[in-house]
Amino acid sequence: MRNLTKAIAPAVIADNEQAWLEQLAEEPDNATRKTRYRHPEIKAAIRDEAYNKCIYCESKLGHNTPGDVEHIKPSSTRPHLRFNWRNLGLACTECNRRKGVYDNDEIPFLNPFEDDVEARVLHYGPIMSWVNGDQAAEIAIRKLELHGYNREQLVIRKIERIHEVDRLMTLYQGCGNEVLKEMYYLQLIDMAELPSEFSGMVKSILERNGIL
Ligand SMILES: [Zn+2]
Repeated sequence: MRNLTKAIAPAVIADNEQAWLEQLAEEPDNATRKTRYRHPEIKAAIRDEAYNKCIYCESKLGHNTPGDVEHIKPSSTRPHLRFNWRNLGLACTECNRRKGVYDNDEIPFLNPFEDDVEARVLHYGPIMSWVNGDQAAEIAIRKLELHGYNREQLVIRKIERIHEVDRLMTLYQGCGNEVLKEMYYLQLIDMAELPSEFSGMVKSILERNGIL
């Protein structure tokens, strides 16, 4: 999980939010009116701002796993936020399903666009945890099962990424050629940058190894 910056709202949602809510109120069961947040311009914008990754688990989303438009506060409990740009993000279907309709004013779900999530979650290899005592972080990790239980495919993909990082770190640390060493270094740094899959985990590995 990384801290993300909310992009500027696409015109289609900024201009239509109120009208869409009013039209839905007239016909609450109209499927098209209910899902207008799936407009291609909105989907493209939420994909771009999240580097086409799930805002929670950092899985890359692609043709086979396009991901869902996630309501950070559920539209079932907060109908007025159904078409609210700041309430939308990109999530994988696995995270989206697990988060479900969690909504609690006292302990709101972690919001990578507003909370300093990087200071609140921990990475132990492919397993995520939370800073001791941080209830919101604990709830988010447990609900999303990012501590590893029942997310076998995700954990395996993260382990594969760890092996890749380990291999590069070995090459980097043992390299006597300055040009090659610089290339390995830049490749490692790149894997910890926001656009890369599981960059939060990689960043944490590089920090612990004194590379970042
Ligand atoms: Zn996810």
